[in-house]
Amino acid sequence: MKLETLALHAGYAGDPTTHAATTPIYQTTSYTFDDTQHGADLFDLKVAGNIYTRIMNPTHAVLEQRLTEMEGGVGALCVASGMAAITYSIQCVTDVGCNVVSTSQLYGGSYNLFAHTFPRQGIEVRFASHDDYAGFESLIDDKTRALFCESIGNPAGNVVDIAKLGEIAHRHGVPLIVDNTVPTPFLCRPFELGADIVVHSLTKYIGGHGTSIGGAIVDSGKFDWVANAKRFPMLNEPDPSYHGVVYTEALGPAAYIGRCRVVPLRNTGAAISPFNAFLAMQGLETLGLRMERHCENAQRVAEHLQRHPRVEWVSYAGLPDSPYHGLCQKITGGKASGILSFGIQGGKEAGARFIDALQMILRLVNIGDAKSLACHPATTTHRQLGQEELIAAGVREDMVRLSIGIEHVDDITADIDQALAAAV
Ligand SMILES: *Cc1c(COP(=O)(O)O)cnc(C)c1O
Repeated sequence: MKLETLALHAGYAGDPTTHAATTPIYQTTSYTFDDTQHGADLFDLKVAGNIYTRIMNPTHAVLEQRLTEMEGGVGALCVASGMAAITYSIQCVTDVGCNVVSTSQLYGGSYNLFAHTFPRQGIEVRFASHDDYAGFESLIDDKTRALFCESIGNPAGNVVDIAKLGEIAHRHGVPLIVDNTVPTPFLCRPFELGADIVVHSLTKYIGGHGTSIGGAIVDSGKFDWVANAKRFPMLNEPDPSYHGVVYTEALGPAAYIGRCRVVPLRNTGAAISPFNAFLAMQGLETLGLRMERHCENAQRVAEHLQRHPRVEWVSYAGLPDSPYHGLCQKITGGKASGILSFGIQGGKEAGARFIDALQMILRLVNIGDAKSLACHPATTTHRQLGQEELIAAGVREDMVRLSIGIEHVDDITADIDQALAAAV
């Protein structure tokens, strides 16, 4: 089936006891065992079934199956937030002394995790610009366990050549992890381009209504953990934290996502709630329609800003003169999602006045809501970064980031115009 259909139907064939048409919210902490043997078999991963909602839940399972099919993978794991998904996606394949190589153009939370938190836990993250392929490759050594990038960077709006980074990763026997939050599977399917693992913040376009936080990891099942067993002993040797299971033997191509569930999630516990998983599914149902409108509106707003005499620069990969226009054709078929950024005459102060003058567009730090949103990254999401780090992250001091919603485009441009008039 096609994505629009999977978004509505995948993973749920109806509830045999209640005939509920919509996936129910299974608001339960735990599940009964038929007998002690059944319990033991569940713990040994010998039979499929539910044990405890920190690790699995039937509502989560439907969302996980839906995301698996939409990304074209073998399995998914939903967790409490996008940040938890990113943390677990890396913790699943790293130990103290290992490193990860990442693009420097990242969501502010991911940058903080990589630059500050992981290093204090003994996992080094090395940064290179997303288009410096030689630099990227030179950072990989025998302690490298993954490459990481965002398919479309938030807030820089840079588009990443996933195929090229995938080739580099595979030449060195490591997986490529792609944060696909900004384009969503409707615009970009990283597995088809050579990515091995996809992570999502469900909080953004997938949820789509600004109601709930959630995250997901999706496994393509294509990375050969066995051939690269030296780098990945955690997937190829008996796990004492899970009574000696060898994940590649017990779970085959789903070894990675299985270990994400029974090690990082089970042992550190950032579980999503059944209610938030339910809300993410309500969003997912209309994601295809919303993405079309987000892209259409953002394209119109970018063109409008580009023509505006008070606007100095506009960054949106849908604009023909964007340095990312060509790559955007390659990875999303030319649809650049709903995030754009720009700078106005008068720099940082005028940018702040612009944001303060907005009447309909909301002042907040989020993206992907059905409503249009505005923020000033240099004073909010990226405020802890120094001048050089800001440049590496692709964040200019005067940058205003807009997440264009699905309102009528004339109302969006009208609010922008009156705020520009007030600011400059
Ligand atoms: C928001 C965001 C995250 C983090 O997601 P949360 O659900 O807020 O934890 C990660 N990556 C990108 C690209 C994001 O926009």
